[in-house]
Amino acid sequence: MMKKYNLAVIGGGFSGVAAAIAAAREGCQVIIIEKGNAFGGAAVNSLVNPFMPNCAKINGESTELSGGIFRNIANKLNERNSTLTYVTSRKLIEYSFMEEELKFILNDMICDAGVDVLFHAYLCAVKKDGEQIKSVTVATKGGLMEIEADYFIDATGDAQVCYLSDVPTVLGRETDHLCQPMTLCFRLGNVDSERFWAGRKKLNEKYKALLDEGKFINPRENILAVKMPIPSILHFNTTRVVKMDPTNALDVSKAEIIARKQVKEVYEFMKEHAEGLENSYLMMTAPEIGVRESRKIVGEYVLTEQDARAFTKFDDAIAACNYEIDIHNPEGTGTSHYFFPVGKYYTIPYRCLIPKTVKNMLVAGRCISSDHGAQASYRIMPTVCCIGEAAGTAIGLAVKNNVEVRKVDVKALQKTLKDNGAFLGI
Ligand SMILES: Cc1cc2nc3c(=O)[nH]c(=O)nc-3n(C[C@H](O)[C@H](O)[C@H](O)COP(=O)(O)OP(=O)(O)OC[C@H]3O[C@@H](n4cnc5c(N)ncnc54)[C@H](O)[C@@H]3O)c2cc1C
Repeated sequence: MMKKYNLAVIGGGFSGVAAAIAAAREGCQVIIIEKGNAFGGAAVNSLVNPFMPNCAKINGESTELSGGIFRNIANKLNERNSTLTYVTSRKLIEYSFMEEELKFILNDMICDAGVDVLFHAYLCAVKKDGEQIKSVTVATKGGLMEIEADYFIDATGDAQVCYLSDVPTVLGRETDHLCQPMTLCFRLGNVDSERFWAGRKKLNEKYKALLDEGKFINPRENILAVKMPIPSILHFNTTRVVKMDPTNALDVSKAEIIARKQVKEVYEFMKEHAEGLENSYLMMTAPEIGVRESRKIVGEYVLTEQDARAFTKFDDAIAACNYEIDIHNPEGTGTSHYFFPVGKYYTIPYRCLIPKTVKNMLVAGRCISSDHGAQASYRIMPTVCCIGEAAGTAIGLAVKNNVEVRKVDVKALQKTLKDNGAFLGI
């Protein structure tokens, strides 16, 4: 048995990394457990790019809604010349980034914070005593390993620790439990980008015509390409696998096979019809298919799409968001968007991080307590990073005061977050 920690964070995506750093900053002894070999979660495992915009014009000033650790990470990427900023057709600022640099940056931040790291460790069991989580067990090359801690943060994206703890979770949308589609992202290299972008409208028209004729297995309505900091590289977020359960290993295996066929068909189509791809290469597909939505916990409060559309500001706000409600059709073709009016945003309550039936665990990231519609907005990397920072800071306060997660002093939590650069709208 390893030493006992104040906090074990399971999952090394944006939410888990921010949680671990924030808790260590509050003086906790922290271990972060990750099944892969690097931090960044979907950004590295599934090549997700770019950072989606999360800012609002408030009192005439453009205000970033994702401050704190996220801003720190983004600044470091900028300093390393590893981002590309561009303005979208809706006049929003997005920026793509080099995930290889992100891996270095997050390693340094985690190590500098004094967090212990356990890579190549797959969470497979949880031990509970009543309403207390006692330990998590991970599968490693050396066999099973048990890690004890006073508190736990589930940052697995899939609410995996909660699921294994029999904490209530729900899957997908409320009506039929279908989740947003899974997507296998890919990159092309040696592209003549100027010609590609100039010809893109025509390319999409051709693509749509063939889609309507039933020529593709991919139901996505258009080809979604993203500019990268290296001009000769293009990022594609354009495959779509629907009606599969991202928490079912057999479904995910089928999804990986279908998505790879989709990569082949869309690349072959583009090689024939796109401008600027004559000398291109398929450089890589993501190490794993990207999951937009799977389980979400049923927590002390369930954040709803209605709350988001009403720009609700909660007393126990721990993060703010106004990224569009962006729903890729869980059944096939089409993507729906609800854009927030200029200057409007909603906040995310601390209660959404608190799972029912346990006293010493919080949840961070895309699997907090919400409905399908709200999740389609706050799931972006800048926002989940802020949620993670809030979860880690909350555990820091819980450790100092030796209280269960429900008893954390929310005013003190908000003050610490704001002192560290968070925007909470209060
Ligand atoms: C295809 C796609 C496109 C997207 N596009 C954008 C975009 O353009 N911009 C944007 O900002 N956001 C985008 N998103 C959303 C965003 O990437 C995710 O919602 C966000 O990264 C989730 O962060 P997280 O920390 O909650 O989870 P994750 O990033 O998924 O991190 C969870 C971590 O936990 C680890 N883990 C999981 N299970 C276990 C286990 N059993 N044992 C050990 N470790 C485990 C995983 O390996 C992973 O590293 C997209 C998502 C997808 C899938």
